Formats: sequence, structure tokens, C-alpha cells
Amino acid sequence: MAITQSDIENALLPLINPVPIAQIDGDIVTLMLEIDPAKANEAEPLRQKIEQTLLSLIGVKKAQIILTAHKDFQADKPQMKQPPARENLKPAGVKHIICVASGKGGVGKSTVAASLAMALQQSGLKVGLMDADIYGPSVPKLFALESFKANFTGGKLAPAEAKGLKLMSIGFLVDGEAPMIWRGPMIQSALRQFLQDVDWGALDVLVVDMPPGTGDAQLTMAQKVPLSGAIIVSTPQDIALIDARKAIEMFKKTDVPILGLIENMSYHICENCGHESHIFGHDGAKHTAEKNNIPFLGAIPLEANIRLSSDQGELTPHELFKNVVKSLVEKLAT
Ligand code: ADP
Repeated sequence: MAITQSDIENALLPLINPVPIAQIDGDIVTLMLEIDPAKANEAEPLRQKIEQTLLSLIGVKKAQIILTAHKDFQADKPQMKQPPARENLKPAGVKHIICVASGKGGVGKSTVAASLAMALQQSGLKVGLMDADIYGPSVPKLFALESFKANFTGGKLAPAEAKGLKLMSIGFLVDGEAPMIWRGPMIQSALRQFLQDVDWGALDVLVVDMPPGTGDAQLTMAQKVPLSGAIIVSTPQDIALIDARKAIEMFKKTDVPILGLIENMSYHICENCGHESHIFGHDGAKHTAEKNNIPFLGAIPLEANIRLSSDQGELTPHELFKNVVKSLVEKLAT
């Protein structure tokens, strides 16, 4: 039986908390463990215990535990009178992090995140795309990288590279077909690893495809990562907009600048007669943007070609993104 992240988490929780996300490659499990440099002598016995525990699990033949020591390790520090500085998970070489969020799933958030990353790259910037949507990772499919597996090299996870972008997704670490059950701490641990343990190198912009909704994972990103801004994607239906408003509220409360709202699957143009039909209503997102005093970045039609090309790993950014990139670059420069 194939081993899963939940099996690993359940087995290791008595030893380490939070349990880092493991790379599972058939029956080989690789785990990267951050240790306190001041307690380096305790690391080896712990490493051995973790290794033995993993090897005792059905479906694990080989366990590799890589120890890394971060200078700014925070756990186990004595309690200070002053509140400790806010944890900052921003990777060192990354200038700006922009997240693409939505109140609910299936509105095209991943399609927008990938299009935005490609359009930014095409404008001459160095860009990465981090697929934080661990419930339904889309990056492997969007970039035709379903069989790519990320490897640890030199203590860091090497991202995939495609279309000039650096890419990381949970889909590069675990088998795409295996069902995954994620608990709050695991999601936060995955996000932390994606930001801190991936060799992003020097990037102008890291675009983050957020998980849908406004739960723990989104709050972690909003609170622990200095985000240059958030883009919110919604469809024009009332129901999606109610959730989009929740996302707007969350970013406002955590002082993350909202760069704008994009309405996806906005209208449909008949391939035969050119007639424009507003299947899910009209201008809902535009009104929501106006009411909440945030920029409306534009509307993307519901087009069979967008779905077909994204399913085949051949997505090209909708024209709208040229303007979006222009206004973003201006905003980020100020
Ligand atoms: P989310 O990340 O919000 O769950 P996705 O980006 O994965 O949504 O999109 C969900 C599905 O809708 C995908 O199959 C995608 O190809 C399709 N899709 C997204 N935007 C459009 C669009 N404008 N027109 C047609 N299909 C779209």
C-alpha cells in the first residue's frame, strides 16, 4: 500500500511537531528537518529515531532525513518580555510576493495565477510560481509536468523550470493520484517549506497560487509573509462574490494591499455567431470592487480554448494580463 503524508504525520507527531512535508517517491521517503544549531548534538539521535519510525511503516523501504540548521532558528528560544519579532517567511532572494486568492474553489484562480506569472515573465522579469493550493495542485497539469519529481540538492528543494518560470507544487512531491487529507499544522508546515526550503534563487516576483478560502493557510500567508499584494479572483455569481468579499476582508484586516479583483468566466462569446452572453450575471465583480474600494482589473471570458489549452499544459495569458502587468509593475516600483 502506498504511504501517504497523513501516515507519516501520524507516525512522527510524537517525535516532532510540526511534521515537515515529506517527499514520497514510491517507497522512498525523504524528509528535511530544521534543527537548532545550539542543540546540534541532539540532532543525530532524533534523526535516527525518525528514520527507524519511518522504516517501520508499511510501504517505506528507504528513509532519508536531511538535517538543516538555520541561523535564525526560533523554536525553544527562552521567552522574551518583549513580544518576539513577527516571523518572516519571505525567501531571501525574492523581491516581491504576490498572492492570487479566491473565496471559493473552481473560479479559475490557478489559471489566473499561472497566466499572471507568465505575463510578468514575458515582460522581462524573473518570476516564480508557488502552487500553495495543496488541496488541488494545478501547476503540474498547467505546465505539463505531471511526472516531474522535485529533488533535494544541497539541502534545498530544486524547483521545476518551464516557460522561463521557477515552479513548485505539492504535486512534485507526492503522487498526484493519492488522496490527501490535510490538517491545519500540515498545511502551514508545507507553506513554510515551500517558502524557506525551495531554491528560488533571485526573483523579481514570486506569484503564489493560494488555496481557496480564508482559513489557517491563508492567514499564515497574510501574517507571516510580507506580501506586496493580493489579487482576488471571482466569478460574477452572487455566491462566489460573497466568498470573494470574505477574502477582501481578510487581506484588509491583515494590512495586505489588495492589488485588484479579476472577474473570470465573465461572459461567453458564441464561437458561431459572436453573440456575447452573460451566463453568470453581469458586472458583479466590478460592483463588488467599487463597493469595497479596490481596483477592478478586468474580466476574462468563459472560453473553451482557455480550458483546453490549460488542460494540455499550453496555456497562454489572456490579453487582459498585459494591462494587469503594466499596472502591477508601476505599483511595485513605488
Ligand atoms: P481554481 O484554481 O479556482 O480551482 P482553476 O484555475 O483550476 O480554478 O480552473 C478550474 C477549471 O476551469 C479548469 O479546468 C480551467 O481550465 C477552467 N477555466 C478557468 N478559467 C476559465 C475560463 N476563463 N474559461 C474556460 N475555462 C476556464
